[in-house]
Amino acid sequence: MRVNAGFSRLLRLPGVWVRGVQFDTDRVVVTLALRRRRLLCPVCGYSTAHRHNRQQVESVWRHLDLGTWRLELRARLRRLRCPRHGVRVEGVPFARPGSRFTRDFEQLVAWLATRTDKTTIRRMVRVDWATVGRIIERVTGDELDPDRLENLFEIGIDEVSWRKQHRCLTLVADHLRGQIVWGHEGRDAATANRFFKEIGRSRSQAIEVISLDMGPGYAKSAREHAPQATIAIDPFHVCALGNRALDDVRRGYWNELRQSGDPQAARRFKDARWSLLKAPPNLNEDQARTLRRLRNAGGEVWRGYTLKEALRGIFAPGLTLADVTILIDRFISKATRSRLRPFVTLAGTIRRHRDGILHAIRLGINQGRTEALNNKVRLITRRAYGFHSANAALALVMLTCGPITLAPPHESHA
Ligand SMILES: [Zn+2]
Repeated sequence: MRVNAGFSRLLRLPGVWVRGVQFDTDRVVVTLALRRRRLLCPVCGYSTAHRHNRQQVESVWRHLDLGTWRLELRARLRRLRCPRHGVRVEGVPFARPGSRFTRDFEQLVAWLATRTDKTTIRRMVRVDWATVGRIIERVTGDELDPDRLENLFEIGIDEVSWRKQHRCLTLVADHLRGQIVWGHEGRDAATANRFFKEIGRSRSQAIEVISLDMGPGYAKSAREHAPQATIAIDPFHVCALGNRALDDVRRGYWNELRQSGDPQAARRFKDARWSLLKAPPNLNEDQARTLRRLRNAGGEVWRGYTLKEALRGIFAPGLTLADVTILIDRFISKATRSRLRPFVTLAGTIRRHRDGILHAIRLGINQGRTEALNNKVRLITRRAYGFHSANAALALVMLTCGPITLAPPHESHA
C-alpha cells in the first residue's frame, strides 16, 4: 500500500483524500484535499458549485496522536459566498466550524474532561486548559439533545458557583430524568426568567413541581411563570443551611479561642470542622474521636451540633408527613430558644418555608435524589475553576450531568 493510501485508512476522516505525508521533528504533517466538488457554508450548510476564490494560507487542524507523534492536518480550502453569511472558507466534514481540531480529537478531549482531572488531560492531549474549555463548548453546542426541554414535569432550580468570588451558574434539573437540562450564568430571578422564556408559556405551564432553595429570587420567577406548579423546598437545601449555621457557630467559638490567647486550642478546633459537618456514619476514627471530645466539652458548639443533627434527622427516610410536621415544629421551637444566633435565624427561615418543605415531603422529594446530582455538579464545577468563561464551565456541567452521551472516538467509529 502506498503511504498516502495507508494514511487515508489510518486517519478515518470522512470526505478527504490524502495528498501527502511528511515527518517533521515533532509531528507528522498530512496534507489533505476535500473529495466533494460543491462548497458548503460552515455556518448554515448552504451549498454551491461556485468558488469565490482560494485560501492564501492552508488551514491546520490537530487530529488524534499517532503513537507519540502529534498529527497535523493541512488543507488549502476554497471560499464561497453564502447569501446569508457572506464570503466564508468552506466547511469541512471532519471538523467543527472555526475549530483547529478534528471532531475525533474534540470528542476525546470532551470525554476525558468529564472523567479525569485537569493536569492529566493537559499532559495527555497537550493542549492548555482554556483550549479544553473552548473545545467542550463546541462539543456541547453540537451534541446537546434539543428535546431535553420537552416534557418537564418536576424540575429543580439551583445555583452553583463555578469560580471563587461568587461567579454563579443557575442550573435547572429535570428530576424525573435525573439530568441537568438548562443553565445560564447568574443566580437571580432574571436568570430563572430566561429559562421560562426559553421553554415558552405552554411548557412552563405544564410543570407540576418546582423544587428550590430558600432564596427569594427563583421563587419569584417560578410563581410568575409557572403559577400552577407546587413549590417545594428541597430537604437538601434545608440540611445545607443547618450545616452552614453550625459552621457559623463553630467559627465564632474558634475566634473567641484565638483571641483568648490559646492558639493551640484554636488550632485543634479548626481541625474539628469536618468532624462536625459530616454525617456521623461517614466519620473516620480520628474524626469520631474529635466529636466525642466536643461532646464531653459540651458548650455552644455541641448544642449547635445536636441541632444540626436533629434537622438532618427530620428528613431521614421512612418518616411520614405527620412525623415530619411534628419534628419540624419541634426543631423550630428548639432552635428559636437555642441562644445561638445562626440557629435562631435558621429557625425563622424554616418557619417561613415550612409549607414548601412539607410539600417536598408529601411529594416524596427526598434528599438523596438532589444530593447525588448536586455533588456531581459541585465536583465538576471545581474542575471548571480554571476556565475562561461561564459558558465553558456550563458546558462541562452539561457534558457530565446533561442529556449527552459521550464515548471515546474509537467507539463511535466501531
Ligand atoms: Zn451560510
